[in-house]
Amino acid sequence: SEKIRVGIAGYGNLGRGTELAIAKTPDMELVAVFTRRDPESVSLVNQNVPVYKLDDIGQFQDKIDVLVLCGGSKSDLPEQGPALSALFNTVDSFDTHAKIPEYFEAVNNSAELAGNTSLIAIGWDPGLFSINRLFGEAILPEGATYTFWGKGLSQGHSDAIRRLPGVKAGVQYTIPVTEAMDKVRSGSMPVLSTREKHKRDCYVVLAEGASASEVEQSIVTMPDYFADYDTTVSFITEEELKRDHAAMPHGGFVIRSGKTGAGTNQVMEYSLALDSNPEFTSSVLVAYARAAYKLNQMGQTGAKTAFDVPPGLLSPKSAAQLRKELL
Ligand code: NDP
Repeated sequence: SEKIRVGIAGYGNLGRGTELAIAKTPDMELVAVFTRRDPESVSLVNQNVPVYKLDDIGQFQDKIDVLVLCGGSKSDLPEQGPALSALFNTVDSFDTHAKIPEYFEAVNNSAELAGNTSLIAIGWDPGLFSINRLFGEAILPEGATYTFWGKGLSQGHSDAIRRLPGVKAGVQYTIPVTEAMDKVRSGSMPVLSTREKHKRDCYVVLAEGASASEVEQSIVTMPDYFADYDTTVSFITEEELKRDHAAMPHGGFVIRSGKTGAGTNQVMEYSLALDSNPEFTSSVLVAYARAAYKLNQMGQTGAKTAFDVPPGLLSPKSAAQLRKELL
């Protein structure tokens, strides 16, 4: 049968990861990539796939079944999500948790009007972790849910370090505290402070003439980002930064600890250990792109989240095949 025709809007880390993930599917093909930059300046992994100006995407409505939105959550998606869901079925990884309700409304309005299906806030958190938080609460109504992140590179915290005077470059890793995780896994349902759950490790390249102790002080006391955590700062060379800290690992744990019956302990745990956050997130986006297309074929239009998608639709296999192989 015909392959699902996919487009990519925005070619950064997720754009590249989406290209790689589509290449691993049996039932989807990448038709085109769209960028706000000069298309000539954007080079894909597969040079045979064309790159076009995002402004020209309207001409591709009958050539693309689903568009994967790979823009940033901060300023790209709030604009691109509503605009592009008026033209295509879409999937995106909008991850500004506090703004998901208003983003949902904006995308829902344009997708619904156009008869398109748009899956928003897809990825691992929000996304797969959200589903596992929901499972935990629904199955063990008496209990507590814990999310631990890491070990992982945090883009937001790395940016915060890089903006400080005296810092030439730097990265930050979020690390879950083992003792806290052990307590949670024991079923004792501990109340944990921010400091008890995660610590933060920073690797910094100093600017010429900057004082290490002043930079360290300004990092560990930074409100919101570091002040509430045990933070370590290590100073490294630019070569070490390039050699040892270029990857984008991430992951974490969702743990539901609850009680059934007359106080029987039950613990549910889901974890991810990712060597590349963007390549994994893109792989999630591509599986949900397949689901967006199928939902649209079924006449289910408007904006939806991971909560609204039947899991069988993520698979290239038929429902009958899935019943036989995976149940
Ligand atoms: P990038 O910064 O790599 O890319 C974002 C956009 O920036 C691209 O779409 C691209 O648009 C533009 N861009 C990329 N490279 C360049 C460049 N060299 N010069 C100028 N512009 C460039 O972001 P990521 O792909 O890493 O992440 C996108 C979003 O994904 C994040 O904002 C985050 O919110 C979300 N995310 C969600 C996760 C989840 O679990 N839900 C997990 C991980 C990320 P264009 O081609 O049009 O210029």
